[in-house]
Amino acid sequence: MHEITLMSSILDTLRESALQNNIKNIKQIKLVVGKFSMALPDSLLFAFEALGQDELFKGAVLDIEEKDTKCICRDCGQHFSLDNDYYFVCPNCSGHKTEIVSGRELYIDYYEGD
Ligand SMILES: [Zn+2]
Repeated sequence: MHEITLMSSILDTLRESALQNNIKNIKQIKLVVGKFSMALPDSLLFAFEALGQDELFKGAVLDIEEKDTKCICRDCGQHFSLDNDYYFVCPNCSGHKTEIVSGRELYIDYYEGD
């Protein structure tokens, strides 16, 4: 499962940032995860539990916000959210020339610690 790899690099980023900011213990982490990033929040939480065992992450709470996948129709310009991950049909004109504009993101929104 690729959530382990993703979480590993997220934790590396946090370790580096905490070091630069002289933070010894992180209390809260907020992640934004696009539904189209294919990263499952449950698996990310599991990976966090497994990998975040050092002092820095002791007692830290991981909060994950899921973002809908947003598309645009190239035929009529309609913006729409994907209800179903694989149903790329425009609800306005039933066109299939749709493009994903957001939903692939996965980033650290913020973190807090001292
Ligand atoms: Zn359309």
